[in-house]
Amino acid sequence: MIRLIVFLLCAAGFGFFVMRSLRLKRHLPKLVLLDRDGVINVDRSDYVKSKGEFEFIPGSIEAIKLLNKARVKVIVVTNQGGIGKGLYTHEDLEDIHQHMKDGLKVGGAHVDQIFICADHPDSPSHRRKPNPGMIEEALDQTKTRPEEAHMIGDDMRDLLPALQCGVHRHLVLTGKGKKTLKDPELQSVSAFKVHANLLEAIKEILKV
Ligand SMILES: [Mg+2]
Repeated sequence: MIRLIVFLLCAAGFGFFVMRSLRLKRHLPKLVLLDRDGVINVDRSDYVKSKGEFEFIPGSIEAIKLLNKARVKVIVVTNQGGIGKGLYTHEDLEDIHQHMKDGLKVGGAHVDQIFICADHPDSPSHRRKPNPGMIEEALDQTKTRPEEAHMIGDDMRDLLPALQCGVHRHLVLTGKGKKTLKDPELQSVSAFKVHANLLEAIKEILKV
């Protein structure tokens, strides 16, 4: 009899634990999409053209590590119009991204994928933000519903495609963020959140 009671209590406890885990899991996003310049690294008006010009924003490595620990997929979606303008090459960009990955690895973090769009700003394809192509690809490839995904950026070009795709929207005040906050067009991006930086955004999204 005692064994039966102990068994029932254990089963109830296990059931409660499973239900609680599932509930917590439901609140976690499946995918976080990150703009690069002004979010992960310091933005430059003359483009990041070499790894020597790539500088992490304080806290961004820790933010990505938190996402990794929570098993949330992380995809960078970045316009690289400087390639279209001939300011640097695809090889230069690969070098920059290897440098970024190395820096993340040292901090115990990683990104799952990096989507780039090298179009010249004057001849944008469907992939160049604010067009939604890269976000659509990321949702498709990871089989993620829009409501399970969050986009974090410092520019209208990040928020508008997120709105179009139905993805949660977050503006950070690093990079161009403070300027974006004053943009009258921002009112068209309904229901977005504002955060001081990437780390604060991720802490709020993950509720940690
Ligand atoms: Mg940016």
